[in-house]
Amino acid sequence: MSSPVFDYAPAPESRAVVDIAPSYGLFIGGAMRDPVDGGGFLSISPSTEEVLTEVAEAGPADVDAAVIAARTAYAKTWSKMPGRERGKYLFRLARLIQERARELAVLETLDNGKPIRETRDVDVPLAAAHFFYHAGWADKLAFAGLGANPRPHGVAGQVIPWNFPLLMLAWKVAPALATGNTVVLKPAETTPLTALAFAELCQQADLPAGVVNIVTGAGETGRLLVEHPDVDKVAFTGSTEVGRLIARAVAGTPKKATLELGGKAANIVFDDAPIDQAVEGIVRGVFFNQGHVCCAGTRLLVQESVVEEVIASLKRRLGTLRLGDPMDKNTDIGAINSAIQLERIQTMSDIGEAEGATRWSPACTLPERGYWFPPTVFTNVAQTHRIAREEIFGPVLSVLTFRTPDEALAKANNTPFGLSAGVWTEKGSRILWMAQRLRAGVVWANTFNHFDPASPFGGYKESGYGREGGRHGLSAYLVPDETVGGGA
Ligand code: NAP
Ligand code: MG
Repeated sequence: MSSPVFDYAPAPESRAVVDIAPSYGLFIGGAMRDPVDGGGFLSISPSTEEVLTEVAEAGPADVDAAVIAARTAYAKTWSKMPGRERGKYLFRLARLIQERARELAVLETLDNGKPIRETRDVDVPLAAAHFFYHAGWADKLAFAGLGANPRPHGVAGQVIPWNFPLLMLAWKVAPALATGNTVVLKPAETTPLTALAFAELCQQADLPAGVVNIVTGAGETGRLLVEHPDVDKVAFTGSTEVGRLIARAVAGTPKKATLELGGKAANIVFDDAPIDQAVEGIVRGVFFNQGHVCCAGTRLLVQESVVEEVIASLKRRLGTLRLGDPMDKNTDIGAINSAIQLERIQTMSDIGEAEGATRWSPACTLPERGYWFPPTVFTNVAQTHRIAREEIFGPVLSVLTFRTPDEALAKANNTPFGLSAGVWTEKGSRILWMAQRLRAGVVWANTFNHFDPASPFGGYKESGYGREGGRHGLSAYLVPDETVGGGA
């Protein structure tokens, strides 16, 4: 059955709201400076392959200078400042993100390839919300359940991925600053621009020099940062593979670490679920942000009696999604972030077909330039297939079926990951029964991919350890006060 697809006139967001410099240095000690011993690399727009700018690559001496700046700021100003004063800076940063929201959204869309609708409505508002939320905590740390006087660790070395560049920055920087730590942050190689814009916001907010330092670069810069001997706390979001390297590097050192890694979430649809809502949730779960989402609902588990209805409805819905220019306000699906990621997605999808699953995509024309992949659904998937076990990190859904709640649970938990899960049913008791037994850090009921700074996020098993957001997230940045009552 075909559904009506309306023609929309193009509604491009204006690029004129951003002013991208031809090149960028490193943000160290409150100022932009050229790298001492590093090089440079290009950041491109994945939807057009256009070169946006040249960015500095920090070498060992640069990372060292950034850590020294962070240490000095920690010792001289930030750790001595009362929480209510620190809070004012966080409020300022939050308001600046709001004031410059349009510019940040355009910058993120150009650099990352995700649709402007997402950066405008999700990434940027959530980043501001994270700063607002943590601004509120800065003077209330005595009530975080960590004793009357919990202490910061010192210098936090933070490494983030490319899928939500500004939002992941906010998840890392806001709790660190609220708790009195100072920061050296390394953005992902392919998406440094919003972090560099954030450096400007720090200057605009008059944040004391060295409290936030930003060192751009690739994996080697990240390694130099997490292995730097004067870093007290490591916070990483990225692949399980790199997470393992980092866990090994910090083992046996006094460093604290939190790791937010990959996922292979089950999205479970029972036969009593409202099918239309569930289909929206499936689409939101796996095609949001081109599937570049660690908690994406990539394994759809549908109760056998409704599988045909769900798949038919899902295919109809996918036929209405618009793929193309991410700067167009009507676009649902943007570009894949890099040529390397596109190749990974293509390879995994080819493996899916070779292993015997049935591949389907709606009719859609891919733009000629840039990195593109159509929304893809695999049916007839077995649990042993690689597309059902490994993270693809792209717009690819694997559909499996089940008959009983026990079987759904067994299949959902049959994964080395444990970041998130979704349950769709009208029965409240079943939601609770499933949520108690699913080995996943977040379980969404009759919704998917909902985020709030007050709600902790993090994984089980190979999805990492530690939580971000909420009171739980604060504990990653604080040493509990064991001497005075009230410890958790
Ligand atoms: P990645 O290769 O692990 O990279 C993540 C970050 O680590 C990047 O900044 C990267 O630098 C840097 N890096 C690479 N090698 C390093 C090393 N040896 N030491 C220190 N840092 C190093 O992951 P990605 O491909 O960018 O991102 C996709 C992955 O992230 C997916 O597997 C996804 O599930 C996961 N992810 C998890 C969460 C979560 O909250 N659990 C959130 C988002 C993404 P370069 O980019 O410059 O190479
Ligand atoms: Mg880029």
